[in-house]
Amino acid sequence: MKEIPDNCKVVVIGGGVSGCSTAYHLAKFGWKDTILLERDQLTSGTTWHAAGLVSQLGPSAGITKIRKYSLELYKRLEKEIDFSSGLKLNGALSIATTKGRWQELLRQATTAQLYDVNVEVLNINQIKNIYPIINDQDILGGIYMPGDGQADPIGVTNLLAKAARNEGVKIFQNSPVQKIISKNGRVNGVKVNGKIIECEYIVLATGMWSRQIGEDMGVSIPLYPAEHFYVITEPLNDLPKNIPVLRDFDDSLYLKEDAGKMLIGIFEGKSIPAFNKTNRVPEDFSYGEFPENFEHFEPYLEASLKRVPMLKKAGIRKFFSGPESFTPDTNTLLGEVPELKNLFVCCGLNSIGIGSGGGVGKVTAEWMMRGHINEDLFIYDIKRFQKFHSEVNFIKERVTETLGDLYGMHWPYKQPKTSRNQKILPYHEELKKSGCMLWSIRWI
Ligand SMILES: Cc1cc2nc3c(=O)[nH]c(=O)nc-3n(C[C@H](O)[C@H](O)[C@H](O)COP(=O)(O)OP(=O)(O)OC[C@H]3O[C@@H](n4cnc5c(N)ncnc54)[C@H](O)[C@@H]3O)c2cc1C
Repeated sequence: MKEIPDNCKVVVIGGGVSGCSTAYHLAKFGWKDTILLERDQLTSGTTWHAAGLVSQLGPSAGITKIRKYSLELYKRLEKEIDFSSGLKLNGALSIATTKGRWQELLRQATTAQLYDVNVEVLNINQIKNIYPIINDQDILGGIYMPGDGQADPIGVTNLLAKAARNEGVKIFQNSPVQKIISKNGRVNGVKVNGKIIECEYIVLATGMWSRQIGEDMGVSIPLYPAEHFYVITEPLNDLPKNIPVLRDFDDSLYLKEDAGKMLIGIFEGKSIPAFNKTNRVPEDFSYGEFPENFEHFEPYLEASLKRVPMLKKAGIRKFFSGPESFTPDTNTLLGEVPELKNLFVCCGLNSIGIGSGGGVGKVTAEWMMRGHINEDLFIYDIKRFQKFHSEVNFIKERVTETLGDLYGMHWPYKQPKTSRNQKILPYHEELKKSGCMLWSIRWI
C-alpha cells in the first residue's frame, strides 16, 4: 500500500470529477509531485449520481471552450487509456414553445457558429424526424447539436483518475482532510488522518463541502447545495435507443434515454436548499440521497407526459433526489481565493460538472502554473464575489433561484429576486422611486 508522503508540491482535496481532472492536468503539464486526497471513495460526493448530460455550447466563448475541451478530452483519453467513460453522443435537441425562447434558441444557433459548434435549426417536421415520440403541438421550433449527448459520470471520473495516476499523481482514498494549515498568509500543508503533509499549493475541489471548509478558516466560498431531482422510468420496449437528449426549457425539463428507460430531470423555478435544518453538509455524507418528494416533482412529471405521451405507459422505477452545489450567479468558482495565497478553488459546478469537468481542471492547472489565465473567464473567478455572498442566509435563499436559472429565460440583465438589498446606498429609496436599477452589481 502507498504511504502518504510528508510533503509534496500540490494537494488536491476531493476525488469527484473536478479534483481528478485538476490533478490530471497538473501532472500532465509538468507538476508531477501532486497528490489527491479523497475523504471516502472517488465520486462518493455528488459526482456518482449525475444524469451525465454533456453539451458544448455555453453562454460565452470562454465557457464554450471549457465544455468543448471536456468532451474532446474524454474522447481522447478513452482511446489513449482504453477505458470507457460511457460516452453516447446521439446529439441534443432543444425546443421552444414560446416566442421569447425561440428567439433565444435562434440567437444561440448564431453564436454557436462563432464558437465553432455545429448547430442545426430545425422545423417541426425535422424535429419529428429525429424525435418521433415527441408531442409537437405547441412547439415553435428547435435547435439540434449533433455532437452533444451523455456520459457515465463515474466512468468519466475513473477515466480522469486513471489518466492522472499514469501521469504520476498519487491518489489516496479514505483520507479526509481535517485541517488546512497556513503560514504567513499562504498555505503550508494539510492534516489528514492525524498526519501533516507540507505543500506549496492546495486545490479545494471539495464540491458542496467547500463553503463550510472555507468558513472554518475565514475564506469565503459562495456555494450551497440544493436538492436536485430526476426520475427513471421502468423499461419501455418501444423507446427508440438513438434519440437525442431533449431539453424543453419552457417546461423546465430534460429527458434522456437510459438503457431502455427514460430519465426525466428538472430545473424547476423554485428549488429546495439541502440540509435545511443544520445548514451544514455532514462530514460522512457519501453516496447520499434525500427522501422522495413527489409533490414537488409532480407538475414536471405531468409536463413530461404531455411532451412524450408514450411515457404514460411506464411506471417509475427510481425517484432520485441528491445534492448539487449552486453559486449566487450560476457560474463556477475558479482561481486563487483572495484571503490565502496558493489556495485555489475548483468547485460550484451548478449541475454542469460532468460537461465541464475536463475544462475546469485544465484552467485551474494553468492558472496555478502560470499565475494567470489567458482566457476571458472573469465570470468564473472567485474574486468576483464579496464576503457576504457566502453567508449562509444569503446563499441558501439565493440557490432557490439559481438552480432554475439554468433553464429560465436568459434575458440580458436579469435581476435576481432573492437575497436582495444586502448593501444599499443612503439614497436607495430615491433611486428606486426614479426607476433606477444597478446593472454593475446585479448579484447583490
Ligand atoms: C441530480 C443531479 C443531476 C446532475 N446531472 C448532471 C448532468 O446531466 N450533467 C452534468 O454535467 N452535471 C450534472 N450534475 C452535476 C454534477 O454531478 C456535479 O457538478 C459534479 O459531480 C460536481 O463534481 P465535484 O467534483 O465538484 O464535486 P463532488 O463530486 O462532490 O466531489 C467533491 C469530493 O470532495 C470530497 N471531500 C469533501 N470534503 C473533503 C475533505 N475534507 N477531505 C477530502 N475529500 C473531501 C468528497 O468526498 C467528494 O468526493 C448533476 C447533479 C445532480 C445532483
